[in-house]
Amino acid sequence: MSGQRLTILGATGSIGSSTLDVIAQHPQRFELFAVTAHSNVTAMEAICQRFTPSYAVMVDEQAANRLREALADKPEITVLAGAQALLEVSAASEVDQVMAAIVGAAGLAPTLAAVKAGKRVLLANKEALVMSGQLFMDAVQHYGAELLPVDSEHNAIFQCLTTHAQSTLGQVDLEAEGISKILLTGSGGPFLNLPVNQLNQQTPAAACKHPNWSMGQKISVDSATMLNKGLEYIEARWLFNCRREQLDIVIHPQSVIHSMVQYSDGSVLAQLGQPDMKTPIAHCMHYPHRRSSGVKALDFTQLGALTFVTVDEQRYPCLRLAQQACWQGQAATTALNASNEIAVENFLAERIQFGQISEVCDRVLQQLQMPALGSIDDVVAFDQKVRRVAFECVEALT
Ligand code: NAD
Ligand code: MG
Repeated sequence: MSGQRLTILGATGSIGSSTLDVIAQHPQRFELFAVTAHSNVTAMEAICQRFTPSYAVMVDEQAANRLREALADKPEITVLAGAQALLEVSAASEVDQVMAAIVGAAGLAPTLAAVKAGKRVLLANKEALVMSGQLFMDAVQHYGAELLPVDSEHNAIFQCLTTHAQSTLGQVDLEAEGISKILLTGSGGPFLNLPVNQLNQQTPAAACKHPNWSMGQKISVDSATMLNKGLEYIEARWLFNCRREQLDIVIHPQSVIHSMVQYSDGSVLAQLGQPDMKTPIAHCMHYPHRRSSGVKALDFTQLGALTFVTVDEQRYPCLRLAQQACWQGQAATTALNASNEIAVENFLAERIQFGQISEVCDRVLQQLQMPALGSIDDVVAFDQKVRRVAFECVEALT
C-alpha cells in the first residue's frame, strides 16, 4: 500500500514537529511530499535528513541557498525558495493531505491553495480562517476540499458531532442536529490568578510560559491575553455555523476537557485527553480511523479535580474585542487579527507592554472604517492597511 502523501506548511514549528512525530510512528501509512519553513535552516536540515521529503521550501531566499548547500549529499530532495513555492507544494497533484501550520496571516494564501486544489486540509492556522471567514468556508465547499480542524478545541467539538455534521462543516444546522450550545474551554493561560494590577509588567518570557501546553511564541502570548480563545471563538463560529447564542466560553484551568457540545436533551458530550497536540493531529491524519498518536492515556486516578470558572472580562479585554468583532462582520475580525499580530510582535520585541496589546487592537478597531470584503484580494489589501495603522499606533505608544 502506498501511504497518504503529505505537505506540511510550517514544518519547523510546534505543530509541524508534532505532525512529523505522528508520521514517524506510521511510516508505512504516510509519505512526506513537502515541508516548508520561513528561515530556520538548522531545523529544516534535520527534518530533511530524517524524512527525505521530495521538496523542502524556504520562504527566505538566502536560507534556501544555505539549505541547498547543507543538503548537497541528498540530491533526491529539491529545495525551493520564496512564497510562491508554498502554493505549488500545497496544490501539487501528488499531495493528499496538507497540514496548514504556518503561524499568522502568512498562512492564508498557501492554505487556500490547498483548499482550491480540493485537498484534505488539516487546519491549525486559525488566523487564515479568522481573516477570511465566509470566503474561506465557501471555497472549501466550492472546490470540494475536506476540512478537518486541528485546533484542540475545534477538534474536540468535531469529535462530539454526528458524522453528518462532520461532513457539512460550515453549513451544519445545529438546531436540526439537536445541539443547543457549543462550549469552548480555555485554560485562562499563565496569568489566570495574577492580580490584575500586575498584568502590565509581565515579560514576554512570563507570557510564553503556558501552564499546560508547549506552543509557538505567538499563540502563547495570545493564550496569555486570551485573544487565542477569541480567535477560536471566531473560528468556531465559521466551522460550526454558530449563532451568537449557540457559542459560549468557559475557563477550565486543567486543560483535560478540550471542549464540549451540549445537546437539547440535556446531554453534554466532551472530548478529554492529555494536553498534547499529537492527539488532534493524529485524529485528523487518520480520520475516520483511530490509530495511536504516541500520547499516553489519561489516568483518571491521578487527575485530581476538574474545575470551571467564568471569564473575568477585566483581565482579558482582548477576548471581549474578539467576541464583538465576531458579530460585527468580516472586516472587524480581519482588523483584529492583523492589529494583534503587529501588537504581539512588538510585545515580544519588548517595544510595548503586555497591557498595550489590547490597547493597540482596541484603538485600531475604533479608528478604522470597516469596508465590505467581497474577495480574498480585498481581505489581503485590508490586512495590509490595518498593519500600517497598527504600526503607527505602536509607534505612538513607544
Ligand atoms: P510556530 O511559531 O512554532 O511555527 C510556525 C511555523 O510557521 C514555522 O515553521 C515557521 O517557519 C513558519 N512561518 C512563520 N512565518 C512564516 C511566513 N511568513 N511564511 C511562511 N512560513 C512562516 O507556531 P505553532 O505554535 O506551531 O502554530 C502554528 C499555527 O497553529 C498557528 O496558527 C497557531 O495558532 C496554530 N495552533 C498551534 C497550536 C500549538 O499547540 N502550537 C495549537 C493550536 C493551533
Ligand atoms: Mg486551541
